Amino acid sequence: MTTTSLPTPAVPDAPTTGRVLLAAPRGYCAGVDRAVVAVEKALEHYGAPIYVRKEIVHNKYVVETLAERGAIFVDDTDEVPEGARVVFSAHGVSPAVHEAAAARSLETIDATCPLVTKVHKEAVRFAADDFDILLIGHDGHEEVEGTAGEAPEHIQVVNSPDEVDKVVVRDPDKVVWISQTTLSVDETMETVRRLRERFPTLQDPPSDDICYATQNRQVAVKKLAPRCELVIVVGSRNSSNSVRLMEVAKEAGADDAHLIDYAKEIDPAWLEGVTTVGVTSGASVPEILVEDVLQFLAERGYGEVEEVRTATEDLMFSLPRELRGALKASGQGTGRPQREGRRALRVDTV
Ligand code: SF4
Repeated sequence: MTTTSLPTPAVPDAPTTGRVLLAAPRGYCAGVDRAVVAVEKALEHYGAPIYVRKEIVHNKYVVETLAERGAIFVDDTDEVPEGARVVFSAHGVSPAVHEAAAARSLETIDATCPLVTKVHKEAVRFAADDFDILLIGHDGHEEVEGTAGEAPEHIQVVNSPDEVDKVVVRDPDKVVWISQTTLSVDETMETVRRLRERFPTLQDPPSDDICYATQNRQVAVKKLAPRCELVIVVGSRNSSNSVRLMEVAKEAGADDAHLIDYAKEIDPAWLEGVTTVGVTSGASVPEILVEDVLQFLAERGYGEVEEVRTATEDLMFSLPRELRGALKASGQGTGRPQREGRRALRVDTV
């Protein structure tokens, strides 16, 4: 546990009694880092424009910053000029999207997080074994669409524990569950518990589908939330893991919790009577946005910052294969800009 004091700027009459509990880990995960760097490197190497299907990660600031540098975000491959280069987002795409891209002769860079790809592979394998696959996740989320598209005949989406009663399967003894990577661990386990009541031989996935980053950020916010009157989660509204952090903070005992993209969205009224503010950020949030929040709070008397760390993350994914090959062939490095929290360990993926 580390306590630091941010320099409190000269704000007349600012109280000095408040403090901040800062969650760690927070912010960028290995999959987001890889996807964002993939677009940055593609822009550097090929020049603008680089098309990106959907938001590369669900964060407003990241998307706006990359758009300023020449990335063009589109909803689907039919908006990309024939033969142009397109990056697939960290959330993954279905085989149908790969086929549509090939039909337009697009040059693709697949920035799907390797941990999402792992879930796709599970879906393909269980479908080949003719299981009914219950995909716990949020209908309409890009990751769920991508995973479900791997085996649409075998997969049905279960949004929440309340939907368990509606599930219909062909053979109750041949059912498996898998999940979106960014869910609430507790809610997912409740859904699984209810599914198992209905299907006692329900099979588990071979390993956790909810990814390490989602789990670690939830554990950290759970630890600090009971000590806070207010928890501020930095993240975008369409970021599943960020929304989950806000929900988990409330369930874990924070009196109040808010999700914001930028420090300027903090309503000073939220701070009335508050002595301890928890701060965390979703897996797609750059640290600069958290620093802005800490500065905003320091200006209002919350200059003492205590880090509440529950895990240390060392994971790093190598860049998408297509990009790695192009960078190596041209003698350009595949190194990354140094970002807070990044460690040296590299996990190679194919
Ligand atoms: S949140 Fe998890 S699954 Fe999503 S990009 Fe990050 S590491 Fe990958």
